[in-house]
Amino acid sequence: MTRPGSFALAIAASLLWILPALPAQAASLNATEKKIAAVVDRGVPASLALLERTVNVNSGTMNFAGVAEVGRLFGAELERLGFEAHWIDGVEFGRSGHLIAERRGRGARLQVLLIGHLDTVFEADSPFQRFTRIDDSTAAGPGIIDMKGGVVVLLLALSALADAGRLDRLDVTVVLTGDEESVGYPLEAARRHLKAAAPLADLAIGFEDGDGDPKTAVIARRGSSNWTLRAAGRAAHSSQIFRPDLGSGAVFEAARFLSAIHDSLRGEPYLTFNPGLILGGTTLGYSAAEGRGTAFGKSNVIAESTVVAGDLRALTFEQRERAKAAMWRILERHHPGTDARLEFEDRYPPWRPARATGSCLPNSTARAATWALVRLPPSIRRSPGPPMSRSPPECWTECSTVSA
Ligand SMILES: [Zn+2]
Repeated sequence: MTRPGSFALAIAASLLWILPALPAQAASLNATEKKIAAVVDRGVPASLALLERTVNVNSGTMNFAGVAEVGRLFGAELERLGFEAHWIDGVEFGRSGHLIAERRGRGARLQVLLIGHLDTVFEADSPFQRFTRIDDSTAAGPGIIDMKGGVVVLLLALSALADAGRLDRLDVTVVLTGDEESVGYPLEAARRHLKAAAPLADLAIGFEDGDGDPKTAVIARRGSSNWTLRAAGRAAHSSQIFRPDLGSGAVFEAARFLSAIHDSLRGEPYLTFNPGLILGGTTLGYSAAEGRGTAFGKSNVIAESTVVAGDLRALTFEQRERAKAAMWRILERHHPGTDARLEFEDRYPPWRPARATGSCLPNSTARAATWALVRLPPSIRRSPGPPMSRSPPECWTECSTVSA
């Protein structure tokens, strides 16, 4: 969700990536760092203008033309920096597509993969459409934090490195997906290009906002699965509910399941599960792809069908499978006269906290650059480490030894 203060945060983040950044340290900047700082400062107004321009183009995931247009705008900026940008059409996975841009340095020592996305959760019919300045350091708009601001930060950072003559030290691949908020299907096709780029990279950085604090890096991510519960009951007059041959109905069966998983799984660290949609009654129309449906039922008829759509997030594969097993066990204790089926669809895999990733964090510039990977509860986030003190090229070299 976008919230006020977002573009100020975005710019602060770019400073942290490129610079020692804190004013108190400004005196210790070397000539290159001062040049980078100056380029960033000069670039802020243009970056804000680009942010405003792209935020005002609706790019809700299912607005394919809007997502492509934002890709075209960001692609043009990357081409201006010497990247070869190309558009991957998303017809194969039912989405708009992805922007991929590559730039090879001269005598490059480090392969860098920079990741972002073009789409937002605000579709074309959302009332939230426009970039609005709130005061001189705050703006609101759809997708500023998540994550057009992050892409603008990425571009400003690359621009500053280019102007300082440091971009040629890197081979950079930028992947901006068009389906982060609602991933395309099949997932394998939707993520093929990103997965192909990953093994080539010494260092991968996602620019989506983490916890809103640019001093922290996020180095783990919970995996996400979807689940669908379909409960069935026997339709009959409500006056006969609970009769042995009629049972409790589909709505009570779904409620039993939800209540039981709530009571047995709630509170496990890092595990969350959320029923986000429920429909129940005599006849249902439900579209999982659209996240909507219709229900017909009467108060004097025992419900015949209930569908519940939810998600499940876990920090490790083991935790995910344990939670699934618990849900299967609970499922089997049906109310009389009812049945229920449960289906899981695994989406993103868990990325557990790893020592190798964390070891990059004390190196200050890398820490700042990697802060934005994912959203997690504060309890799993690493502490930010010491203040920044190195210029980017030194950091890149050191980080290239980390097998994250
Ligand atoms: Zn996002």
